[in-house]
Amino acid sequence: MTVTTREPIPQEVLDYERTYVERNPGSRRLYEQALGVFPSGVTHDNRYLQPFPIYIQRAEGAYKWDVDGHRYVDYPVGHGALLLGHAHPAVVRAVAEQVARGTHYGASHELEIRWGQLVQRLIPSAERVRFVSSGTEATHMAIRLARSFTGRTKVLKFEGHFHGWHDYMTAAVEPPYEIPESSGVPAAVLDTMRVVPAELAAVERALDEGDVAAVILEPTGASWGTIPIDAAFCRGLRELTQRKGVLLIFDEVITGFRCSPGGAQAAYGIRPDLTTLAKILAGGLPGGAVAGRADVMELLAFHAEPGWNRGRRIAHHGTFNANPLSAAAGIACLEIVARGEVHRHVNRLAEQLRAGLNEVGAAYGLRGCAYGSFSMFHTCLDRALLEAEGGPRYGKGKDARAAKLQRVMLVQGIHLMGTGGMLSAAHTEADVQHTIQAFDRALAALAREGVL
Ligand code: PMP
Repeated sequence: MTVTTREPIPQEVLDYERTYVERNPGSRRLYEQALGVFPSGVTHDNRYLQPFPIYIQRAEGAYKWDVDGHRYVDYPVGHGALLLGHAHPAVVRAVAEQVARGTHYGASHELEIRWGQLVQRLIPSAERVRFVSSGTEATHMAIRLARSFTGRTKVLKFEGHFHGWHDYMTAAVEPPYEIPESSGVPAAVLDTMRVVPAELAAVERALDEGDVAAVILEPTGASWGTIPIDAAFCRGLRELTQRKGVLLIFDEVITGFRCSPGGAQAAYGIRPDLTTLAKILAGGLPGGAVAGRADVMELLAFHAEPGWNRGRRIAHHGTFNANPLSAAAGIACLEIVARGEVHRHVNRLAEQLRAGLNEVGAAYGLRGCAYGSFSMFHTCLDRALLEAEGGPRYGKGKDARAAKLQRVMLVQGIHLMGTGGMLSAAHTEADVQHTIQAFDRALAALAREGVL
């Protein structure tokens, strides 16, 4: 592969592996300490990076700064939670005011109602809401609701779709899909899951086998669109599940409030039975929710009828459900989300970014290497996947190139989320241009290394 970049590539970029180690002595020292505390030194699988990850000290807007003083354009944006960017003044103010009033009342409070009402107002299918503490808890709750409501056991999920880390959702997350993402999960649990590729004919066959309570999916495709699906597929799924009497669960933990103020469902005009939410919901603090049909959510309600509370009802606890700090941050964030201006900005920037990355990629023979929808972008450096029969088909294979791309972008002040990222209200055109230029140099360095 020839290097096609116009300007000379700085030596420190070409030597990015060495540069990465040399310019981050503070992060390296912290990682050495972390190894004595955490398995592999990290607190989330996606934060694992060899030879060590960067350690961040502060963040503001679209940027964050590491302990060695480098600034990064931030694309993980709080694992997708920070649609408004870091430390948005309205969120900071709301949290600061609330923290002095108490962080936990061990009781009902007014903020939780206002927060829930905002969810009802924004998410079209949210007739009723229940707060939990994370996206993982939300999908756990949603499938329990579906199983209880229908009296059926099986839940159908799609290959590669991620719904959190609880036992049921370890099925078919990363290829090879036959092997669960995690050990320690009873076979009996996995036997209750049905996994199919994202094809309507496969779904129909699986539903016809019977005993399916619900179909759950990420509405823009596996792992926030790494393997994309489109609105037509989601509509087909809605029609099919309705016809078969199976509940449809949109996992909008990422897409909720991001694809539009009303999530992917509002953008697509589809009404799922249940929706799982987290991330943007709580304005950058911990929090999650299940929202949906009142008759399904009614399973969480107390009733006087004999045999209901013990037998029919779904029990649900959770120390931090609707905690006042998350509620305050969530309200501040969703009130801004409701105006819709943020979405125009982030979608337009993401479009520019994808176009620029594709222009760069084409010069290296990687046509169509950048893709994604709404304010999300992904890159694929695997030529075989890009050129696969039937047009570009993207896979989730995490190869060595992904980590290399991370490091070569990090030394240029860009922090990707895996091989892509998400835009926030705080990102600017200048950030996008900087990213495109860094990607150009990154590909030059990878090409020179012979890994493209
Ligand atoms: N569902 C989806 C679509 C997600 O992306 C995530 C987290 N990345 C989850 C569920 C789990 O959310 P949490 O990390 O809050 O448990």
